[in-house]
Amino acid sequence: MSASTYLDYNASAPLLPAARDAMVAALDVVGNPSSVHRFGRDARRLVEHARRHLAVRLAVDPQRVVFTSGATEANAAALSGVAVTRRLVSAIEHDSVLATDAVETFAVDGEGVADPAGLERALAEADAPTLVSMQLVNNETGVVQPVQEAAALAHDHGALIHCDAVQALGRLAVSPDALGVDLLTVSSHKIGGPKGAGALIVRDGLPLKPLLRGGGQERRRRAGTENVAAIAGFGAAVEAANVDAWSRATSLRNRLETQLVATDAGAMVFGAHAGRVGNTTCVAMPGVDAETQVMAFDLAGIAVSAGSACSSGKVASSHVLAAMGIPDALARCAIRVSLCPDTKAGDIDRFVAVWGQIAARGHQGRRAVA
Ligand code: PMP
Repeated sequence: MSASTYLDYNASAPLLPAARDAMVAALDVVGNPSSVHRFGRDARRLVEHARRHLAVRLAVDPQRVVFTSGATEANAAALSGVAVTRRLVSAIEHDSVLATDAVETFAVDGEGVADPAGLERALAEADAPTLVSMQLVNNETGVVQPVQEAAALAHDHGALIHCDAVQALGRLAVSPDALGVDLLTVSSHKIGGPKGAGALIVRDGLPLKPLLRGGGQERRRRAGTENVAAIAGFGAAVEAANVDAWSRATSLRNRLETQLVATDAGAMVFGAHAGRVGNTTCVAMPGVDAETQVMAFDLAGIAVSAGSACSSGKVASSHVLAAMGIPDALARCAIRVSLCPDTKAGDIDRFVAVWGQIAARGHQGRRAVA
């Protein structure tokens, strides 16, 4: 049976109708946005229209928006594009940040909140030119990070700071200037735009060595002909994003957690005592590994993920839960459930019922083996 209850919005959100319409219209625009003739200008208009939507949403000047192929590229461009010799990143960053050469990590606490004191100690250790990177919302737990505090510390020590705001855009009000960061990453497909589009927001006047070189696009900060249709869809999704609607998911998420904890399967919710976005829960069913749960939920028509979807296919357990000090045996039993504004109470009740069945089978299995 194919999945009919989709509870994996942090992995990717369905395309919004407005984004689809914008993309379909853009596909028929033949020109290259860099061409000066009328066809080129038509394509340019679509790109600049989308740029304005991002600029309004993020409260920045449009020329600070650099379109990329997604957040992975934007993170790589930020981490490798600034003139620093040290990169300090929280231990729970997305792999696209952690994969940067020679990054140093600072710790998070047991609730999954990055520790500003740890960052400050690391900043004080050397006075080399430094970039800090801290995400705004963790993709696995939904925990909101102290980015404003980190930005003040970074700047006090003469460092730059980048923020991966992928899981925050559309869910919370996001502005690089309100956070005080120099660089900020966003992605299209987490908010109902197409996959394969993202942006890096760059502080005015900050020199950035482009990751992709050769063409003069994006004010020489990202070479390559723009993906006009994807950018148009991204702009439409940004325009349609409604932070208030996302907060509706909070009461359902809380209901889900209350019901799971009330079952006798020993459910454990990670980051529950920290500030979180309202749509995300990271929960362990002790004794039943996450892959088994994901497959059993899938057979029952419910889509969830084991840790972060970007890590799927990997046997390794979550680096986020490891950084929070969760024992590996328990971390391997954690799944991520992520809701959207349209999630219904019935979806939650179905999830809880299937959870109970999987837990019961898991426990029977263990008794049979013993
Ligand atoms: N950062 C975070 C926090 C994410 O959740 C993701 C997507 N899983 C990315 C970066 C990468 O985004 P993209 O798929 O646009 O490359």
